[in-house]
Amino acid sequence: MKLLVTGGAGFIGSNFIRHILDKYPEYKIINLDKITYAGNLENLRDVENNPNYEFFKADICDRNRVASICARGIDCIVNFAAETYVDRSIVNAADFIKTNVSGVHTLLECAKEFETKLFIQIGTDEVYGSRDSGFCREEDILSPSSPYAASKAAADLLVLSYHRTYKLPAIITRSSNNFGPYQFPEKIVSLLITNLLENKKFPLYGDGLNVRDWLYVLDNVGAIDAIMHKGKTGEIYNIASGNLLTNLQVVRIILRIMDKDETFIEHVADRPGHDRRYALDCSKMRNLDWHPVYHFADAIGDTVRWYRENIGWWKPLKDGGQFCHWLKTA
Ligand code: NAD
Repeated sequence: MKLLVTGGAGFIGSNFIRHILDKYPEYKIINLDKITYAGNLENLRDVENNPNYEFFKADICDRNRVASICARGIDCIVNFAAETYVDRSIVNAADFIKTNVSGVHTLLECAKEFETKLFIQIGTDEVYGSRDSGFCREEDILSPSSPYAASKAAADLLVLSYHRTYKLPAIITRSSNNFGPYQFPEKIVSLLITNLLENKKFPLYGDGLNVRDWLYVLDNVGAIDAIMHKGKTGEIYNIASGNLLTNLQVVRIILRIMDKDETFIEHVADRPGHDRRYALDCSKMRNLDWHPVYHFADAIGDTVRWYRENIGWWKPLKDGGQFCHWLKTA
């Protein structure tokens, strides 16, 4: 199998590439990534000399570059490439529309032209919007709150339209919040751990009672693997682990693991349009025999250990001044 992984130098994409190269030594992977502030070739330093791995620095909006790779005969495109941080989308949505919508359109056009056998679009639970109670199912109406979520919802609709109109064999995944190694240190778990390692406070939005379903990145990667091999085209699959926790609970768990007290929490004004609760019904994934294998407590402990042992990975990113403006005040 020859895979084109787009956005493979980011957090989830790099974990996915490592997983596939380990598990399927006969698969070949081409990683196409623009290397934005969130893309980092250090994430894949350990596999860069693997003969089954190739990297191209390119933008998914660049049709000629994408087409030249698809022309080499790609069996499956897995698209992780996106602008991903809600706060940045609130400051400036332009790049989100460009990459998350126009970029996906370019990939779909190339997949259609070169008759790629499978197109997997990596989506997000944020497209459903906030849900006070109950669990979102894949067929539920989309109600995105942020420009980021709206751009991801637009991408999902485009992918579905290519499946219906052109019979493009496509699948969409919608996962909950991921945490784990190689996450750019601006998202809640990676920012919190790295701030604590630097003895700095962590800015907690509002009352901290926003609920998310915390998914270890390796569980998400395992789910995408299951979908790639057993998923049905035209389908959407929710992916979560059932670890519904408020941000404050996650912060307290990590403070405890890192032996810090609550003086390290700095309460800051809430994010505009901040969704209160996300929760997913994942019964379709159960039909693919997938279930999360990592316990939250173990996975969060491993994650803390990873950031503790890999200061040389995250410190240059934090010192590089790539933070969203209001996080700089943290
Ligand atoms: P990330 O920000 O860590 O990585 C994104 C990668 O895409 C980077 O390597 C970046 O360089 C690359 N990229 C951005 N624009 C590009 C372009 N125009 N052309 C080529 N490459 C480009 O993101 P992540 O957290 O790994 O998320 C990956 C995917 O998973 C995204 O589509 C995101 O919406 C989705 N997702 C993430 C989470 C999460 O908790 N992190 C949850 C649900 C869904």
